[in-house]
Amino acid sequence: MAAPSECDLLITADMAIIHGGVTLENAGVVIRGGHITSVGSAESLVRSHAPEKRIDLGPALLLPGLVNAHTHLPMTLLKGIADDLPLLEWLRDHIWPVEGQLTPELLHLGALLGCAEMIRTGTTAFLNGYISEENTGKAVDESGIRAILGEGFFGFPSPMFPTAQDCWDVIRSLEHTYDDHERIRTAVTPHAVFTVKPDELAESHALAEELDVAWQIHLAESPEETADCLTKTAKRPVELLHSLGILDHRCTLHHCVDVTHHEIGLIAEAGAKVSHNPASNLKLASGIAPVQAMLDAGVSVGIGTDGSASNNQLNMFREMGLAALCGKVRDRDASAVSAASSFAMATEGSARCLHWPELGAIETGRPADLCALSLSEPNMLPMNDPVSHCAYAATGHEVMLTVCAGKILYRDGRFTTLDMDALRREAEAVRRWILSRRK
Ligand SMILES: [Zn+2]
Repeated sequence: MAAPSECDLLITADMAIIHGGVTLENAGVVIRGGHITSVGSAESLVRSHAPEKRIDLGPALLLPGLVNAHTHLPMTLLKGIADDLPLLEWLRDHIWPVEGQLTPELLHLGALLGCAEMIRTGTTAFLNGYISEENTGKAVDESGIRAILGEGFFGFPSPMFPTAQDCWDVIRSLEHTYDDHERIRTAVTPHAVFTVKPDELAESHALAEELDVAWQIHLAESPEETADCLTKTAKRPVELLHSLGILDHRCTLHHCVDVTHHEIGLIAEAGAKVSHNPASNLKLASGIAPVQAMLDAGVSVGIGTDGSASNNQLNMFREMGLAALCGKVRDRDASAVSAASSFAMATEGSARCLHWPELGAIETGRPADLCALSLSEPNMLPMNDPVSHCAYAATGHEVMLTVCAGKILYRDGRFTTLDMDALRREAEAVRRWILSRRK
C-alpha cells in the first residue's frame, strides 16, 4: 500500500458544494501550499493522506468562500450616520464631508472591521475601491483575507490628486508594492461618469492596460446618472464607455441598474463584468438591475455589498438572498434569478468581477478559499437543498469556519488573525469621534 500523502490541512464535513454547484455527502478537501490538492469522499481522503492538521466539522456544509464583487471597506465606520436618503444627497451632504476627515489610522481601523465582518460571514475575497488604499492593503495583509485594491479618483484636480499624474503615480506605486503578494492585487478605479471626465476615463483605462490590471467603475447606478450623462455627452453611460473604445473584458461595472436592452448587448459583446448590489440599490432607491436579462444575454454577473454606509452590512449571504428575491420582483417572474444563479454569481461570477477566475469554487488546483456553515442551527434543518439554503435560509451567522489561501482565519467564534477586543475598543473611540464631528 502506498504511503499516505503529506498535506497541510484535511477538512471533512457531512456535506460540501463543490465545483458546478454539485453537492457531495461525507466530503473531504485536502489543502497544501495554499491550494486545494484533492476533493472527494472523506473516507478515502482520510485513508490516503497524512495531514499536518485535520478538522472534522461533522454536521456542516463546506462551500467555496464567497466573493464580494464591490465594496468600499473603510466605510464600515460610516454605517448608520446617514440613512434613508437618495444617492446624490447622501453622498454630497453626508458621506463626503466626513470622509474628508478620515485619518490613515481610521481608514485602517475601518478596513480591519470590514475584514472581520466578511471573514465572520464566510467571505474570503473582495474587490475594493476607496481613498488611500495602502491602509486597506495593510488590513488585508494582516487579516489574511484576499482583495483587489482600487485607489479611487474623482477627476482632477481633487483634494487627493491635484493632477492625473499624481493619481497614476499612486496606482503604479500600489501595483509595485503588491506585485508579488499572494492575496493582493490592484485595479484602476475611476469613481463614476458623473465625477470623472471622458478623456480622464480613457487615460485611466490606458493605464489599466499598461499595468494589465482590472478597470472598475460605478456605472448606470440610477436614472438620475443616466439623465446627467445624456445632458453632458448625449450618450447613456454604457454607450459613453463604448464610444470611448474602453468597454472591454477588463471592465467591471458596478450596479448597471438603468441599462437598456441595447446596452446589455454592448456589455455582453465586450466581455465586461457586472457587479449587482441589491441592498445598496434598494436602500438608495436607485432601482433593481435587470439581472436575469443580463445573465440571459451571457453577461458575467457577480454580487457585491457596496460600502457599509449604503447597505449597511458586508454579509454576502444576505446579498445572495436579496439578489434572488429582487430578480423575481423586477421581472414579476418567480423563476427569475434562481437560488442556483444567485449562488453562482456570489462565487464564480464575483470571482470573474475580480478578474481572479480561479477563485469561487471547491475544485482541485484552485486556491484554498472556503467556509463552512453549521448544520446544527434550526434554520438550516432539515437540509433538503444546500444551494437553496445558502440563498434563502442562511443568515451568514451559521459560518463556523473560514479559510483563505489555506489558512484558518475564523473557527467557532474565534478569529485567528484579528484581535476583536482591541477592535471593539477602537470602534467605541470612533463612535465618539464621529459624534463630535456631527454636532
Ligand atoms: Zn459603490
